[in-house]
This record gives sequence, structure tokens and C-alpha cells, in this order.
Amino acid sequence: MTTVAAPTTGQFIALDEQWSTHNYHPLPVVISHGEGAWVTDVEGRRYLDFLSGYSSLNFGHRHPDLVAAAVEQLGRVTLTSRAFHHDQFGLFCRELAELTGTEMVLAMNSGAEAVESAIKVARKWAYRVKGVPEGTAEIIVAGSNFHGRTTTIVSFSTDDTARADFGPFTPGFRVVKYGDLDAVRDAIGPRTAAVLIEPIQGEAGVVVPPAGYLAGLRALCDEHQALFIADEIQSGLGRTGDLLALDHDDVRADLYTLGKALGGGIVPVSAVVGRRDVLGVLKPGEHGSTFGGNPLACAVGRAVVRLLATGEFQQRSRELGERLHGRLGELVGRGVAEVRGRGLWAGVEIAPGGPRGREASEALAGLGVLCKETQDTTLRVAPPLVITEDELDQGVDAIARVLGR
Ligand SMILES: *Cc1c(COP(=O)(O)O)cnc(C)c1O
Repeated sequence: MTTVAAPTTGQFIALDEQWSTHNYHPLPVVISHGEGAWVTDVEGRRYLDFLSGYSSLNFGHRHPDLVAAAVEQLGRVTLTSRAFHHDQFGLFCRELAELTGTEMVLAMNSGAEAVESAIKVARKWAYRVKGVPEGTAEIIVAGSNFHGRTTTIVSFSTDDTARADFGPFTPGFRVVKYGDLDAVRDAIGPRTAAVLIEPIQGEAGVVVPPAGYLAGLRALCDEHQALFIADEIQSGLGRTGDLLALDHDDVRADLYTLGKALGGGIVPVSAVVGRRDVLGVLKPGEHGSTFGGNPLACAVGRAVVRLLATGEFQQRSRELGERLHGRLGELVGRGVAEVRGRGLWAGVEIAPGGPRGREASEALAGLGVLCKETQDTTLRVAPPLVITEDELDQGVDAIARVLGR
């Protein structure tokens, strides 16, 4: 009798290296199972998930309500294309609009597609409603933004790695400094279709803008008849302790882009939600996606909306977020230069002389906590909102061991 050894971590990674493009640099952990706030690798080691798929897993791995909704829908119908109606679509759109206090939903799949869709809608609205001369509409965006990876979106990225060699770029964007209201005031005008902004910049290192910035943007947009587009793909759906990060400032956007957690960590689901008189500019044939708003996506999205409608996850994020920021704050001056963020979301700036972000992430993995650096010197901490207080403490203890001095 012969026994065949199960493939090891190194063998799985070698497959990725040989057969996949090298467009990511993952930590050397090969996950095979996930449940709640925990994942298990192919060697049986358990890790606390302190990243949540960049906030795609706000409800943890395989939340039972979400899995049940998916399984139920798998037994009925999964795809129709938008050539036909199906019985999940209108309900998903209504429930998501009611949850977010908006009037209309444009259903897509990935976050980048939602942002692309919002850009197209804003441009058409500028020409047809605001009266901007054809082909001259501008969208104001912020430096250090992250809105996705398409050629148009990287056209207004300020990250060289994301942009270099991918031109020629799409014109029609003006980049201004994030958090600087005067810069927007100088750039906004009769040709401005929209201001597109992350209410908290995730990839940039969980950067919270100065108080009054978001309300100031709202006022400038009103003054100049420009749309305020909030990219809440990472900041939205409970992450910051509110349904939407803008809610914290009592500011409403004209359009929101949603994604990541909208698919419950099960399927890609994204959407642009907002004003009827803006999204209503789209007519048949002008925009679409074969998979956008498919029955499986809508069934899972509806279950996500039900979880968020209770307010329980927002409350957990607020309460546990206070604990997280309190405990991380104790490390400032002792290996940590600064802690930014809101709710269960933190950018931990490693003090000069400490490990690089990558080294810190690897050391944390060694202690059983999965976290990922963003930029060179920032750890992004974003545990699932189902995490318990004890689990949160475990993760923070590990961070203290790796960074603390
Ligand atoms: C992740 C992200 C996107 C892009 O979403 P994908 O699903 O990766 O295309 C866009 N905007 C923000 C703020 C994001 O965090």
C-alpha cells in the first residue's frame, strides 16, 4: 500500500508562481477553510482574519444566513441575463435603495465596474442635464485615491505602480489634494460633472479627512451643480460603525458606489445607488453587464441587506472599534507612529526604525494573525464585524508583540 502525501504550502505556492500572472504578492499562507473570523491553512494551522478580504468579509467567512440564501438560490435559478426579468432583481434593488435611503440602483459585479458606471452616468448627466458642452465634462478626484484597476480608473491614479505602462490614459479628470477643500474650490466650475471621493481613503492607509471636509464638498457641489459621488466600496456597509462612512458626518451623496461586502464574501456584487434624476439618464442599450444583477448575486445581496437592516453589525463595529482604537492607541510612541480610522478599521503607521509593513505582516502571520500592509509602512486592520472581544484582543496582542517597543 502506498500513501500519497497531501500537497504542502510550498507546492501550492509553486503552482501559483508557475501558472498565474504575478500581479499580487500574497503572504505565504495557503487557506483551505474559513469560518467566522477564522481561516485554516492546508497544513491545519488556524489564523485570525484581520483583513476581511479588504472589507469584503464584513460578516465573516460563510455567515450562515448568507450561505443559506446562496444555497436556496442555487436550487432555483442562478443566471438569466438581463434579457429577461427574474424574481430577485426588483426586490434586491428596492431593498438596497431603502436601506441606503436612495431612489434607484444600477447593479454591477466588481467595484471597478461600479466606479466606471458612476463615471459614465455622471458624464451623461453633465451633458443632458447640467448642459456641459459635449466632450468637455470634468470629474474632480483626490490624490492617493484608489477606485479600481480599469484603464479609465488608473488614468486618474497617482500611484506610479498602478499607472506606468498602461497609457494612453482617459482624459477628463482633475486630481486635487485629498482633504483640501480650497483645492476643490479652485478646480470646480461649469464643466464639473462630479466630485468623486472616498470618504475615508482605504488603500492610501485608512486616511480620515479633516473635520468638515465632506460637508464642505457637499456645499461646493451644490453651489456649482456638480454631483457628489462617494466611493463607499471599502468604507461602506458597516465597516466604520455606520451603514455608510458619510453618515458619520450627516452628509448625503448624489451617487454611492458599493461593492465588496455587498456580495457577502460569496459572490461579486456591486452597485451604484443614488438619485433617480441622475441614474435615470441611462436608457436601454447604453450600459450593462451580462452578470450584473444576476439571481444568485441578488439573493445574496438581499441577505446582506437584511443583516445590515438590523443595525447589529454597525453597532458591533462602533463598540469593538472603540476597543480596537483604544488598545492600538496605547502603542503610539511605542513602535507605532499613528493610528487612523473609524469603527473596526484602522491604519497603523509603523514608527521609523520598526519593521517594514511586509515584514510586520509576515511576523503577524507567524503569530496566527492575517493582516496586510498598505503602502510601505502601514498595517491595515479590518477584522470581520462578527469578531468577538476576546478574538480582537488576541489580534491586537499579536500586533503589540510585533510592533511594540
Ligand atoms: C476595492 C475598491 C475598489 C475596486 O473594487 P474591485 O471589486 O476590486 O474592482 C474601488 N474603490 C474602492 C474604494 C475600493 O476599496
